[in-house]
Amino acid sequence: MSPQPDPESPDQHLAVEVAVFSPLPGSFTYLWPKSLGKPLKGVRVQVPFGKGSRFGLVLEITAVPDDMAPDYKPVADRLDAVPLLDAARLAWLERVGRYYLASPGELWSTALGWALQDDLRRFRCGDPAKLSDDPLLLALFPTRAAVTLKTVLKRAAAAGYKTAVRHLLSLAVKDGLVEEVKAEPFHPCSEESLSRELTATTGQQRAIDALTGKPDIFNPCLLFGRTGSGKTEVYLKAAESVVANGGQVLVLVPEIGLTPMWLARLTSRFPRVATWHSALTGAERLRIRQHLDSTDVLIGTRSALFLPLPKLKMIVVDEEHDASFKQQEGMTYSARDMALLLAQELDIPVVLGSATPSLESWRQVKAGNYKRLDLPDRIAKHASVRSETVDMRGVDAPVSDALLAALNETKEAGDQSILFLNRRGYAPALQCTACGDVPECPGCSIRLTLHRRAGQLRCHTCGFRRRVPKTCESCGEDALMPLGEGMEKLEEWLNEHLPELRFERFDRDVITSHSRLENTLSLFESGELDCLIGTQMLVKGHDFPNVTLVGVVNADLGVSLPDFRAGERWWQQMTQVTGRAGRSEKRGRVIIQTRMPEAGWLSRISEDEAIATLDEELSLREMLHYPPYARWVRLVFSSNKIERATEVASQFARHCEKFDGINITGPMPCPMERVAGKFRIEVLLRDASRKLLPWKLQPLLSGMQPPRDVRIRVDVDPQDM
Ligand code: ADP
Ligand code: ZN
Repeated sequence: MSPQPDPESPDQHLAVEVAVFSPLPGSFTYLWPKSLGKPLKGVRVQVPFGKGSRFGLVLEITAVPDDMAPDYKPVADRLDAVPLLDAARLAWLERVGRYYLASPGELWSTALGWALQDDLRRFRCGDPAKLSDDPLLLALFPTRAAVTLKTVLKRAAAAGYKTAVRHLLSLAVKDGLVEEVKAEPFHPCSEESLSRELTATTGQQRAIDALTGKPDIFNPCLLFGRTGSGKTEVYLKAAESVVANGGQVLVLVPEIGLTPMWLARLTSRFPRVATWHSALTGAERLRIRQHLDSTDVLIGTRSALFLPLPKLKMIVVDEEHDASFKQQEGMTYSARDMALLLAQELDIPVVLGSATPSLESWRQVKAGNYKRLDLPDRIAKHASVRSETVDMRGVDAPVSDALLAALNETKEAGDQSILFLNRRGYAPALQCTACGDVPECPGCSIRLTLHRRAGQLRCHTCGFRRRVPKTCESCGEDALMPLGEGMEKLEEWLNEHLPELRFERFDRDVITSHSRLENTLSLFESGELDCLIGTQMLVKGHDFPNVTLVGVVNADLGVSLPDFRAGERWWQQMTQVTGRAGRSEKRGRVIIQTRMPEAGWLSRISEDEAIATLDEELSLREMLHYPPYARWVRLVFSSNKIERATEVASQFARHCEKFDGINITGPMPCPMERVAGKFRIEVLLRDASRKLLPWKLQPLLSGMQPPRDVRIRVDVDPQDM
């Protein structure tokens, strides 16, 4: 046992365990020089590493016997006087890291990496500690945003520093520096009628009371209500109560695209609303961090979770079922699940909202772990929506005559339309264009994935494989084609066949910035566009009162993913798509194009069917031992050399064989076998008991000396199978 560290003792050598911000496993020990003051858990440091230096986070403080002290290199510098995160958040992240099997470096660079970039810029701009005593600067820059100091100082020096205050000020103002230092990150209040006080319905009031009644305990709730049932109003009213009591609210949304809609409503009630997403500049991020204390509501995507709001008293996860909450790069994590853990750590309410909840949350509701709050009715009177299916078997064009005619009729009536094209079908499946059949795994009722190089169809759940058939086994036609039409092709086709309609695309390839997003949305709202063609980005949450027609260009794309969640996802999306049509008094129309008109899911595209659909799918999952009843972990081994990736994957799979109760599939090539020149091999581990995974893998992974030429990515609760 090492002696207890005593930072007060003058002659004690102290060492620190540092999570170096890199994907390397494990942490590293460094000596703590006394010149850096008292070491603290959670402060960031700069340490010598290899031939250069790296940044990292202090995880532990230990005492070092005198004779061992020379063995360690000393910490080079310290970045924070106090830890960036409070103790509760440090504990939360440690728990998260254990669950997602992340290395310390991966975990902490995910949680704090963004802050590092911003702060380094700030440090490079001069030594704020030395400047802090300068009375002139103090007077000029009470908040001392050091980003701007360097520029200001340079100019001040040129202009005769200390005597040229006026000149300095005018320069700073001219450059917008003084403005920038003072500017708050909050959105201007909206004067819109949205701020009018709505009286909550009985259902809404019940939900609000459930959320605000017990503010100081972990209280997970599922707010379950169809589109337009008043969920947002519930969040807002609950948030008002939280803020009135001195608390702060975090709202997580799956996509930035949702924030304009939210912002309009938030800013009509809260003076200090800040937005957080990956497209912010370093300066914008810094400003938000500087004003965290005074923020009422922070709305953002996944990474907003990592901002340490000091008085956080409620978390809202809107559209909780959305797959975008899953982070796929760096440490893979589910922001929804992390939000639940954070709420638990902080003892605060957390509300997950959806019209089409995830089966994970539905199971928790059924098990009595989450409270279900229902909003069964639409607030406003809506005309009914007429839904029809168009059989595309044997049709060559991407748009049927029926949909074409409907687009024209809608335009003539002065209304607008939306065309939805799901592009998640990147893992190629085959479909017979003549009869619509998609080859399935005989054992798993999951679509088989096309592996072109091997000329095979494979199942990514059980490993089943077969040769690619020459003709369709269902109808015998030579009409097997990879599923899917591109967005570009569709746009081209539409512009050619409907030249009098004004189309605009709405997907990640064209909506590349926040201003593009707002621009396109406002063009559409003002009626300058007739139709938006978009991916799921378009159908989430936006409220377009003039849209009376929604066309689903290819309904088979989503349902034909080689993923046991395909049905669930497809249903969620389709239900949301249909929710876009007829949100006003006008009668809405939905046209769904499919080559599989008999598919069972088609009859369930309605919010009325939600409970039946969820119950049925959940019992199916239970029967098949699929998540959320089982826990799955997928490991992806990637390398320039396919043999090396396979070798390491096989080694790993062999190690796993010693665990009773863990079922192993693979190693086998990933659905996307090559990405950026690297070969990717996967191993899928399944634990029907949910008791072994992911924890059993921890010692295995940390004990494994990872080879330099193979990268291992661990995905707990994988989403895109
Ligand atoms: P959801 O988030 O479930 O889609 P919203 O909260 O956006 O539902 O409510 C749908 C519409 O009904 C909005 O225009 C909202 O302003 C209005 N609304 C919500 N609650 C009430 C209420 N209690 N009284 C009147 N209008 C309401
Ligand atoms: Zn299978």
